[in-house]
Amino acid sequence: MFTASPLPPRQPKFPDLLLLAVTYFIAASATIVSTRFGGGVACLWIASPILVAYLTQTEPKNWWPPLIACAIASWLATALFGFGVAAAPAFSVINMAESALAAWLMNRSRLRAGLDSLPQVAALILFAGLIAPAVTGIAGAEASMVASGTSYWTNWLNWLTGHGLGAITILPIAILVMRGETSQWYRRSGGWMRFEALALMIFVAVTTTFVFAQDDLPLLFLPILPVIVATFRFGRFGAAMSLLLVTLLGGLFTLTGSGPATLIVGSALFHAQFYQFYTAVLVLITLPIAADLKHRKQLFEELQTSEARYRLVTDNATDIVVNLDVDGRVLYVSPSIQALAGYDEDDLTGTYASGLVHPEDVDAVRKCHFLSLAEPDRAHSVEYRGRTASGEYQWFETNTRGLIDSNGKPTGVVSVIRNISRRKDVEHRLKEAALTDPLTGLANRRAFNDAVDALIDAEVAGPACLALFDIDHFKRVNDEYGHDAGDRVLQKFAQVANQVTREGDLLARLGGEEFGLLLRGASLEAAARVCERVRGEFGSAITTIENGRDICVTVSAGVASLSPESSRADLLRSADAALYDAKHAGRNRLSLAA
Ligand code: GH3
Ligand code: MG
Ligand code: MG
Repeated sequence: MFTASPLPPRQPKFPDLLLLAVTYFIAASATIVSTRFGGGVACLWIASPILVAYLTQTEPKNWWPPLIACAIASWLATALFGFGVAAAPAFSVINMAESALAAWLMNRSRLRAGLDSLPQVAALILFAGLIAPAVTGIAGAEASMVASGTSYWTNWLNWLTGHGLGAITILPIAILVMRGETSQWYRRSGGWMRFEALALMIFVAVTTTFVFAQDDLPLLFLPILPVIVATFRFGRFGAAMSLLLVTLLGGLFTLTGSGPATLIVGSALFHAQFYQFYTAVLVLITLPIAADLKHRKQLFEELQTSEARYRLVTDNATDIVVNLDVDGRVLYVSPSIQALAGYDEDDLTGTYASGLVHPEDVDAVRKCHFLSLAEPDRAHSVEYRGRTASGEYQWFETNTRGLIDSNGKPTGVVSVIRNISRRKDVEHRLKEAALTDPLTGLANRRAFNDAVDALIDAEVAGPACLALFDIDHFKRVNDEYGHDAGDRVLQKFAQVANQVTREGDLLARLGGEEFGLLLRGASLEAAARVCERVRGEFGSAITTIENGRDICVTVSAGVASLSPESSRADLLRSADAALYDAKHAGRNRLSLAA
């Protein structure tokens, strides 16, 4: 047959062109001989679709050789069997123009000529079945009228129906054959499938013969059955082959005066036209089904690949993959839930996922769920504490995407859940380290400043005080007993001060041997009492240093109270001034800011 490639043949080869021209000639001659009624145009025209199919598979710049080859074939057929030598050139040109127009329109529509989708089938019917014959029929009818003296409009109508219905019936089959899909099907299918296809085709042929060899009963609906079966069984190949069989066999019977069409009271021309109408409708029923089946098959294959990939990922993932319905019920959870949270997949299916979320985080998780449903085109994420099978809460991070159905309506979400407890732990420790003094375990200056700022910003009514402590002659401790002894003293101070202060107070090491104490809700007198206790207790506390030696160190303090409009700097400055006073007054004492 023709080049068996789905791509357009680059260079039309001579044997291909010869085969094309001969086929064209036979098709044209056969229809001219058997379907010219009353001297007008042939009422069945199957030569053009063969050329159109060839052109749609060829680059337009290579259209001249096939057009010329078929022009000669057309000229010969008309000259020998049709309107005669004189009229032949005109018909030849008009026929070529029609085929070129149909192929050009189909190419222009950007739907590669084929039967892969419904739009492709629709384009084929519209361009090759309607527009091209209607337009070129204007010239065709004129030429026929001049050549035979028959009516212009009868000729135009016959041209339109003959060429249009011929295109709708033959073009799909011709395209499949020229795209090499019939031979591809044959190569791909196994022996059993070929046998089944053959049996079905025999069934189609027998049914068609049974229907068309008689003219007692209007059994035209009968061939629909095997054609539809063939379409469902073998897709476009089955459709094309069975349609070809019905068209040829039924056509043969109808033209020789038998079959249900001849039951109609009317001329042989009318019978032939009616028959063509019948086959065109059969094609219109079958091809959209075939195209849609092909589309569904492709979707199904894509779905299977995607499903296999998804299963592979979810079954082996260290993350948990979950599908929830719109209300947040678990539809599917991957087996990794066992390793990551200790649950059995089956126990969770059907339950509300939010039941496993810490009450404080439920709102955030719900928000993420509904946001994913509302905006399915992007991923949403949320961090929350989730309860594991052992009852303890761990940190999880969920990335969620909404799923929609074919109408764009949300059907649920798919989520990937990761246990982030370790990361949260590290984050927590880093945060703590950034705010803690490692020697004493107290808050550091940054944490202290933050707390003071927060207190000022909160503008809570009621008193608050800030005290600064500085260990007396601390340099001497270091100098006399060593740096380690100094460290012990610092730790001792932290220990004593912690014991004396209340839970709500914040004790911090601000640097060196200087400490800060923030007393929320304390008046200056109350703060003074607390600081005095710290000073007293520390002054009498004994620090045991290396070699079991005991030392005693004192501390001085300055206390300032928070006034409504004071800033942190103001507050620290007054407390520092008071501390300076205490040092100057002889140390081991407390001084209150003015
Ligand atoms: P004053 O009574 O006037 O406060 O005298 P002081 O010696 O305590 O004052 P000064 O500020 O001169 O000395 C503080 C010393 O604290 C100096 C420094 O070497 C020491 N120091 C600072 N940080 C540390 C520390 O982390 N460990 C130890 N062991 N010593 C420290
Ligand atoms: Mg100091
Ligand atoms: Mg000091």
